[in-house]
Amino acid sequence: MRLEEICRFIEKATNQLQDLSFLVLKIELLDSFENLNKASPKGIIKSPAAYQCSEERIIVNSRIFLNLEMPIKVATIMHEVAHAYLHLINPGLKEREFKDKDIDEELIADYLVCGWGFEEQIIAERTLSYGELYSDALRLWRDREKFLEAITIAYTKILIGNN
Ligand SMILES: [Zn+2]
Repeated sequence: MRLEEICRFIEKATNQLQDLSFLVLKIELLDSFENLNKASPKGIIKSPAAYQCSEERIIVNSRIFLNLEMPIKVATIMHEVAHAYLHLINPGLKEREFKDKDIDEELIADYLVCGWGFEEQIIAERTLSYGELYSDALRLWRDREKFLEAITIAYTKILIGNN
């Protein structure tokens, strides 16, 4: 399925969501991420997609993205949409709803994706990219306290493992 079709699918699936009703985003398909500027984070070359704050756009890495299964593609885009939402629409969300929790934006993004109805897709993606421990933690998203505790442990292990 082509990127345009994924975008149409997502628009349809999210058109009742208040959170996203004012979000307008550019999504750009690039051949690869090899020529992104040097300010980009290190591992980005291998990422299927990224949200660029300064450009207010999602960039998609054809080399990786186009080979993914449909649910994984949807999860990948929705995760970047969540970053865009946190920057453009609701920058105060972390402060308001996760105060006194030092929680990474990555985790809030996945939490939002679950709440927006893409739990199944993001769990499928995270099982591949982060493993079972993280996915099991994501499944707890309806219970915020339990979720935060489990996801923080899982994510810390991933970060340590990657170093
Ligand atoms: Zn992210």
